[in-house]
Amino acid sequence: MNTTIDKIQQSAKSELESASSVDEVKSISIKVLGRKGLITQFLRNISALPESERPTAGKRANQAKKNIEVLVDETIRKLETVSTAPDDLIDVSLPGRPSFAGKLHPITQVTDSICDIFTRMGFEIVEGPEIESDYYNFEALNFPKNHPARDMQDTFFVSDEVVLRTHTSPTQPRVMEKQQPPVRIIAPGKVYRCDSDLTHTPMFHQVEGLLVDDNISFGDLKGTLTAFVHQMFDEETGLRFRPSFFPFTEPSAEVDIRCVICRGKGCRVCSQTGWLEILGAGMVHPAVFENIGYDTDRYSGFAFGMGVERIAMLKYGIDDIRRYYENDLRFLQQF
Ligand SMILES: [Zn+2]
Repeated sequence: MNTTIDKIQQSAKSELESASSVDEVKSISIKVLGRKGLITQFLRNISALPESERPTAGKRANQAKKNIEVLVDETIRKLETVSTAPDDLIDVSLPGRPSFAGKLHPITQVTDSICDIFTRMGFEIVEGPEIESDYYNFEALNFPKNHPARDMQDTFFVSDEVVLRTHTSPTQPRVMEKQQPPVRIIAPGKVYRCDSDLTHTPMFHQVEGLLVDDNISFGDLKGTLTAFVHQMFDEETGLRFRPSFFPFTEPSAEVDIRCVICRGKGCRVCSQTGWLEILGAGMVHPAVFENIGYDTDRYSGFAFGMGVERIAMLKYGIDDIRRYYENDLRFLQQF
């Protein structure tokens, strides 16, 4: 007799434990506790027991009924909690999974800020092809064939007449042959030279500038580049023009800025000179205008070209140009 009621209680308990829904619990409850349920049937059969056993059997059956009712309520509550509040399934105290947002490469960022500064001064952005004819890369810019200045640019030749452009300067004749002055352009882009060390890569970036109009003087060039340097670095950054030579400008100058690391006192970066070379510039050579067909008596202009990697190295204090191209995210994510 006792074994019967114990069995009912035990099997009800294990069925409730494995129940996965409230509906399942309710049907177990009906099967065990309902009007035609197992416990009711047991109580009905008590009269068949010997009289001495009847009170104990009745007590045990009622106790079992109460125990199972409590268990049913508990199981329903547990199942409802799980379905309405998923806190038990998600550990909100775990650290989140970071999602990485893409970023512009530092060279692109510096190119953009150079272009921003010049477009604010009224320059227009143009682009030219990276595979260039010998004519635009050299001849139109007053580098005749066999001119020794061609040796300054370690050229990748595609064929005798086609090169990977060694500078962004071919955009100058390309733009000028299509329009009359005023011309006011900057041309950012990739250029190629057969050279590789701490400060040179076979592919690098330049920004070319050209301004042609009536009465343009070297003073305009100095003013424009000074305004650029002050915006790119800061107002305190001094600059100087050193005489130089380029076939397509006359006079030509290398432009240095006061060392941004030591402020002119002398350090390793500026080789103790206190100055850093940042670009080449000059007044457009009349021979270039003659090649294009501009009136050299009326028009004058200036041109400049700067290496973007060089500017970015100085701005961020980077000592090895190759870092820009190693695709090391630890490096690139700092910008
Ligand atoms: Zn220095």
